[in-house]
Amino acid sequence: CGIIGSVGRGSETLDVLVDGLTNLEYRGYDSAGVAVSGESLSVCKRSGELDVLKGALQPWSLTGNAGIGHTRWSTHGPPTDENAHPHMDCTGDIAVVHNGIIENYESLREELEAAGHEFASETDTEVVPHLIEAIQAGGASFETAFRQAVSRLEGSYAVAAVREGSDTVFAARNDSPLVLGVDDTATYLGSDVPAFLEHTDRVVYLEDGEVAELTPDGWTVTTLAGVAVDKEVNTVDWES
Ligand code: GLU
Repeated sequence: CGIIGSVGRGSETLDVLVDGLTNLEYRGYDSAGVAVSGESLSVCKRSGELDVLKGALQPWSLTGNAGIGHTRWSTHGPPTDENAHPHMDCTGDIAVVHNGIIENYESLREELEAAGHEFASETDTEVVPHLIEAIQAGGASFETAFRQAVSRLEGSYAVAAVREGSDTVFAARNDSPLVLGVDDTATYLGSDVPAFLEHTDRVVYLEDGEVAELTPDGWTVTTLAGVAVDKEVNTVDWES
């Protein structure tokens, strides 16, 4: 339903994510969660109102320079803590958020389960972190694994992924909106501009089949095959 991402805000990462989810509340949701990646990867997610997630977050210290957050509107699996996003792989070092519906998730899940992957949720989304993990296990980098995993998805998706030990966020879309917010010191990701509008009004709209890489040094947009795309930076004039 709603996606927020942030890279480059250091110790403020978690606040940026939670504020972003608050700004997306108007879209409606039944669960919410965040993942923050730095030296370690921390995930916290809950069914129910954002306040439930905030309450669960208070005793935590989620530190890292990169993070993703999600408000879920369930399509596959009821609104439970387990089905809330972000979803992780078996080893717990990859976290993924997703809007939309992955139409071929059943065949992907069967394939992954046959290869020994154990699933923790009933969602269509959870195939994505397991696919990334499976491809990485074959020796691919996180970036290559993300691209190859996304290439196998059918249906509608806006997806974003983070990895333990990395402060890069990768994102891609098909038939589901995704936009970058850019400024000189940080890059944001949102399913909609209000997610990050309080930080920047300079935006880059992603198109179907594009991959965004958000790093502390900036951002790039490429095709799924890795060819650079020359993107326009727009300034939004958002009256609300
Ligand atoms: N299909 C996914 C799920 O049920 C994502 C739903 C959404 O867009 O929030 O978890």
